[in-house]
Amino acid sequence: MIHLNNYGWDDRLNQLKQESAYNALAHGRISIVHRTCYEVISENGLFLCELTGAMMYGKSDFELPCTGDWVIFQPFDENKGVIVDMLPRERILYRRKSGTVADKQAIASYVDKAFIVQSLDDNFNVRRAERFMVQILEESIKPILILNKADLHFDRHKIEEQIEHITRQIPVFFTSIHQPETVFRLRESISKGETVVFVGSSGVGKSSLVNVLCEKSILLTSEISQSTGKGRHTSTRREMVLMDDSGVLIDTPGVREFGLATSNTDSVTEIFEISDYAKSCRFKNCEHTGEPGCAVLEAVNSGILDHKVYESYLKLRREAWHYSASEHEKRKKDKSFSKLVDEVKRRKANF
Ligand code: GDP
Ligand code: ZN
Repeated sequence: MIHLNNYGWDDRLNQLKQESAYNALAHGRISIVHRTCYEVISENGLFLCELTGAMMYGKSDFELPCTGDWVIFQPFDENKGVIVDMLPRERILYRRKSGTVADKQAIASYVDKAFIVQSLDDNFNVRRAERFMVQILEESIKPILILNKADLHFDRHKIEEQIEHITRQIPVFFTSIHQPETVFRLRESISKGETVVFVGSSGVGKSSLVNVLCEKSILLTSEISQSTGKGRHTSTRREMVLMDDSGVLIDTPGVREFGLATSNTDSVTEIFEISDYAKSCRFKNCEHTGEPGCAVLEAVNSGILDHKVYESYLKLRREAWHYSASEHEKRKKDKSFSKLVDEVKRRKANF
């Protein structure tokens, strides 16, 4: 028997389940998403599940279950099932689908912490870390910056200088899989039942860190995937691993660029500490791009606020605005489309 408490199941989730019409059926957490089916960890083991038509109907991609979601399913055969309902989602990490302006994609849900992993070689990029932070904070998930491969040669002073503003806001860890004490410190930061998602480019050491953090944990998924003959290397694959006596880790396939899927510019302002200066701008609605008496620009000009940080702020703010506008347009279109459908239905009924 698997104890789902280790996977984050608690009384509150149980209460949410009671509100479902299917509360008498089994529940579990999605550990991997394949192209058309889902692996669900339940008290009775791992089940390979499909969705009912009703679960798919009229849904956008991002509304379909993702790794980390809690679902209710009807088991059949030994390890198969059909997902009939999903508990209301919380703390979802989204990204913008690449190549789109306003389509988002759910990467993982019920996430407590997100480890933004970069390696201390060419991969290190403050601007990319800021971008991840904005998206993560959007959903009240706690971001943590992990600078991995600390055994390589790097200029620590220079790196620390570049991440000064980040260090003031979130925890930062320097790690190396070859220096056990650094991974030990990271392990200490994860509590029992907590869900941690790893994001970052491929090759930075996410899987290696997951493996070292779990020591002897087995990737629960390999057996079932082999028995169904489904490829394990589809682009949608994510893996959820349980740490001994601690949290749940979700590894994501490498994402190099993380398109913002947020329309909230407040967190952008906070992260870059722009809000600290903005309080002193002459105009309340100052956009900090050239207005007289702008305290933000003053801080940039006097060198208190790093010019690069300011530019990164402008860029991400623009992106959030753009996303917001496109999303608004899309909703308007969807609305007029469903109006049209209703109209056609009404006419048919009148015949
Ligand atoms: P992922 O794509 O982010 O999951 O990265 P992997 O875990 O597959 O690691 C990519 C490569 O980096 C592998 O060859 C690892 O052995 C290596 N690697 C991972 N962590 C470290 C580290 O702390 N130091 C060094 N030098 N190499 C590492
Ligand atoms: Zn201003």
